[in-house]
Amino acid sequence: MSAIKAPRGVRDILPDESWKWAFVLNTTMEIAGNYGYSEIHLPVFEHTELFSRGIGETTDVVEKEMYTFTDRGGRSLTLRPEATASMVRAYLQNKMQNGIQPAKLWCAGPMFRYERPQKGRYRQFWQIDFEALGTSSPMVDVEVISIALDLFNSLGLSNLDVVINSVGCPACRPQYREKLKNYFQNRFNDLCHTCQSRLDRNPLRILDCKNENCREITEEAPDIYSSLCGECKDHFDMVLKGLSSLGIHYQMDKRLVRGLDYYTKTAFEILSGELGAQNAVCGGGRYDNLSEAIGGPDLPGVGFAAGLERIVLIMEQQNCNLGEEPHIDVYVIAAEKDVDVEVMSLVSDLRTAGIKADMDFMCRGMKAQFKSALNKSASHVCIVGGDELSRGVVTVKNLGRSEQSEIARPEVVSFIKQNI
Ligand code: AMP
Repeated sequence: MSAIKAPRGVRDILPDESWKWAFVLNTTMEIAGNYGYSEIHLPVFEHTELFSRGIGETTDVVEKEMYTFTDRGGRSLTLRPEATASMVRAYLQNKMQNGIQPAKLWCAGPMFRYERPQKGRYRQFWQIDFEALGTSSPMVDVEVISIALDLFNSLGLSNLDVVINSVGCPACRPQYREKLKNYFQNRFNDLCHTCQSRLDRNPLRILDCKNENCREITEEAPDIYSSLCGECKDHFDMVLKGLSSLGIHYQMDKRLVRGLDYYTKTAFEILSGELGAQNAVCGGGRYDNLSEAIGGPDLPGVGFAAGLERIVLIMEQQNCNLGEEPHIDVYVIAAEKDVDVEVMSLVSDLRTAGIKADMDFMCRGMKAQFKSALNKSASHVCIVGGDELSRGVVTVKNLGRSEQSEIARPEVVSFIKQNI
């Protein structure tokens, strides 16, 4: 029997990658602080209803992609496929409407979707999520888009495209749906099977179908702009004005509808040419009806989610600075057997002084220990042996300069502190 492996579409983030994640998350925390967003930790599972009602019954996420299970108490629970619905639930449940508005919150963590795994698409993946709840000001839409761009710029990402659209609201979208339905009805036989079934249920989703035939058909499809109600039109104009005033370039794309039903007015994505088929590094928009869909009061909101795996993928491809790879300052080498206690005690003294120190725990020879020191990028090694011990000294070697000296044991820590 072979050892059990992780399920398909699930990755281990190993130490050679995890430090890059930490860099991205630390940068996110800094940017969040600059914009007045506070971190929130949300549960990984919620009542299934939160997502089926919030995201929408006819969306791909709810229809095909949720990890839903019944717990031992007979409740239907779902591993969160995204964070926005949970964020709104947390706002309502914790009565954040009584605090300063808008509530500006961010979180990061794993999301779960039963999708076909491929490069940049996993079944467990991390999202960085920013949400501003409690205001319908178009300027907060602008703020949210500029946070995403500020984050990506701070991480050194280049060649990004901001794509934006308005998906209207319940007052004007039905009229647009009808226009679209009529248009697609005339091309029904050319649509893929999925889009044929979408025609009655969710014709807007045909607009972002990846099938080539459908894409061709959608090129000529009516756009939403002439159908927007006055409020949605004004809102969209203000968002575009705000973006321009910040020098943010954008492309309007009438086919950008996003996969989730809750979007109203602004919908946007930030795309990277580096990612191939899964080219969205971040997606978001306004969702003024989400709260009501999950049984809450009228609560406008806007936000975005960015995929952490995709950010790191782009950063690697674009050779961005990913911060400092973890290293050790000093590796303490045992020159012979039976000096483990002395080695451990020196390692401990170094660590207490804030110096990154490590040692061998495998009783290996000196050559192997030197190799470990180099692998861990140590700048110095300390060699502890019987002869040195009897004389009360330790050999300290600067690996970069190949210099070595004997230092009295009580002076070793301060000597190294001065030299690293
Ligand atoms: P969405 O919630 O679908 O709008 O996705 C927002 C962002 O999350 C996307 O732009 C991706 O960066 C990331 N993302 C979504 N689904 C996946 C997935 N299955 N695997 C990896 N990243 C994903």
